[in-house]
Amino acid sequence: MGNGSAWQEATTPGRFAGKTVIVTGAASGIGQATALRIAKEGGRVIAADISKERLDDFVAENGSLDLVPVSGDISTEETVAAVVAAAGGRVDALANVAGIMDNFAPIHEVDDERWERVFRINVTALMRLTRAVVPLMLEAGTGSVVNVASEAGLRGSAAGAAYTASKHAVIGLTKNSAVIYGPKGLRFNAVAPGPTMTGIVANWGSHMAAERLGPLMQANVPTPATAQQLAASITFLLSDDGTNINGAILASDGGWSAL
Ligand code: NAD
Repeated sequence: MGNGSAWQEATTPGRFAGKTVIVTGAASGIGQATALRIAKEGGRVIAADISKERLDDFVAENGSLDLVPVSGDISTEETVAAVVAAAGGRVDALANVAGIMDNFAPIHEVDDERWERVFRINVTALMRLTRAVVPLMLEAGTGSVVNVASEAGLRGSAAGAAYTASKHAVIGLTKNSAVIYGPKGLRFNAVAPGPTMTGIVANWGSHMAAERLGPLMQANVPTPATAQQLAASITFLLSDDGTNINGAILASDGGWSAL
């Protein structure tokens, strides 16, 4: 399943020209690939991440592109305010990509601290930044938001209890916002990645273990996608290419969740 690294990114010049786009988790993996693709396609990207060092390196390596780094913990109101301020009063699109995994604990092994941390970053941070951006989009009468969920937000057996519940919450928030704001010209969609080669999956072996996934899912684990493949799915929905799509949950997982 999945076509992995055979695919080569092909940018669409000018697709984000004149647009200001916020991308969280922009210092690594899927968020970085998304930020880079938008900037290459002419967008001004507010690149947010907790890792100042990796973010600064990323921006320095791509000095010719319009990447504005904002470092800080996106679950805090302080960082949310700094990100929105950097956008300068106009946000055409928002990609909520930042997220953390849990330690694969099933519910009887969950500790409160870990549970709260996963929810604070995967759900509360996304809610807070979206809450700050929506008024600007409503004023403009247009805007596109893409939330990164997971195949673990579509079904029950790929990760720990906290991560799985947090990604189901992301999908619920996405659908609620799509219904509420769709009539006002805003679009809310989610991308649900399957296995993707990024820093988050260092613990790959235990993530994909048979006892967690069950024999059917384990036998069909797809070839891991590249971060660029996920960026392609995210930018499709973020851009005007997705203009007729609102409230969709796009599985970008090589077909895994169709099992
Ligand atoms: P990654 O670890 O490479 O990137 C995540 C980025 O988010 C990092 O740069 C990290 O510093 C940043 N971040 C974490 N906490 C933050 C905070 N509090 N404030 C600001 N930035 C913060 O991982 P990735 O694979 O690129 O993950 C991106 C998203 O994709 C996540 O939401 C993840 O749950 C989701 N996802 C990934 C996979 C996969 O296989 N890689 C599968 C399903 C879903």
